[in-house]
Amino acid sequence: MNDIDVAIVGLGLAGSATAWALSRRGRSVAAFEAYGPGHRRGSSHGRARIFRRAYLDPLYVDLTGRAGRLWEELNASAGEPLLTRTGGVDHGPGREPERMAALLRDHGVAAELLDPAEAAHRWPGVRFTGPVVFDPEGGVLDPEATMAALARLAAEAGAHLAYDTPIRALEPDPTGVLLHTDEETWHARTVVVAAGGWTGPLLDGLVPLPPLSVTQQQVFFFDRTDPGPWPTIVHGETTLDVYALPEGPYLKFGAHVGGTATTADDRDFVVDPAARESAIAYARTWLPGVDPEPRAELTCLYTSTPDEDFVLDRRGPFVVCSACSGHGAKFTPLIGELAADLVDGRPPIARFALR
Ligand SMILES: Cc1cc2nc3c(=O)[nH]c(=O)nc-3n(C[C@H](O)[C@H](O)[C@H](O)COP(=O)(O)OP(=O)(O)OC[C@H]3O[C@@H](n4cnc5c(N)ncnc54)[C@H](O)[C@@H]3O)c2cc1C
Repeated sequence: MNDIDVAIVGLGLAGSATAWALSRRGRSVAAFEAYGPGHRRGSSHGRARIFRRAYLDPLYVDLTGRAGRLWEELNASAGEPLLTRTGGVDHGPGREPERMAALLRDHGVAAELLDPAEAAHRWPGVRFTGPVVFDPEGGVLDPEATMAALARLAAEAGAHLAYDTPIRALEPDPTGVLLHTDEETWHARTVVVAAGGWTGPLLDGLVPLPPLSVTQQQVFFFDRTDPGPWPTIVHGETTLDVYALPEGPYLKFGAHVGGTATTADDRDFVVDPAARESAIAYARTWLPGVDPEPRAELTCLYTSTPDEDFVLDRRGPFVVCSACSGHGAKFTPLIGELAADLVDGRPPIARFALR
């Protein structure tokens, strides 16, 4: 039987970052991924996610600062720009622009509060009707390039990475956990479960988790007709909670709420026609700089807690690393460090603790 210090289940953004963080701390690491690199069944596929400091919650403003510094280190270690700073805008009453600008400035972010005319002059592809916060640290990260870089760095630091290798069962034993694949059994003293939408079923009966709801979300890609510049965009109106970001020649657009409840294994990958209609209507009203007929679309999974906080804590030999709730990508290198801290016996961030 293969014996290892730490095993990781799942090589999405969270598991890949954990593999690198642990292997560069000198741990012997084996990581298992059920599918191939860049597969589209989880939460981390595609080429663009928003990085932003712009949260209305001081905890996340602080954590985005830590994550941002780690992204700069990761960019340097990878030798490529995995996070590109485009700047980001937040607008609409749901984003409380005045309070957000003050909070960001309190945390050392050089945020600007703009009136709608100034904002429209800077970003003619977007329609603004009220105050706008500009977060100069906002940007776009590339998840597939990030996972590939993290896997390469982890392997260079000695990690064993096994793709197309589902863990069929986790079985605690007196000195750790047995991990059963189709072919063999591994033993690890600690297991980090970074299994996204599969976390609940995998840990059923092993670790009591908060309710984790798995939803199928959809995103749409509009051709950009305005040359830009294009920032990342988060827009909250009474009935709107949407985001958009440049990805190649497109503007990627999605609604943060309104996914379809599913499970990671039973989802149908079919885009909801009502969501497509809403996306088109949104683009017609709010995005004068795009062609409102989507050029492409795809589905993706959210695994969410009721309050959208992450779950990052340890029970016995199991470290639970569930960092999605639709906003985890921006924290990727920090998630790896926090999961590695838990493996090293450090306490969790209180809000991410298991109860
Ligand atoms: C449409 C959409 C838009 C988003 N936009 C943003 C954004 O703009 N900014 C942002 O910060 N975040 C965003 N997010 C959230 C972010 O993408 C997620 O937080 C992140 O991808 C979660 O990664 P993960 O590693 O936890 O999960 P996953 O990527 O799902 O990885 C889990 C992995 O575990 C594997 N696995 C499961 N079970 C097993 C098993 N038994 N054995 C082996 N492997 C297993 C799976 O195959 C999978 O690869 C978005 C998410 C979606 C869906």
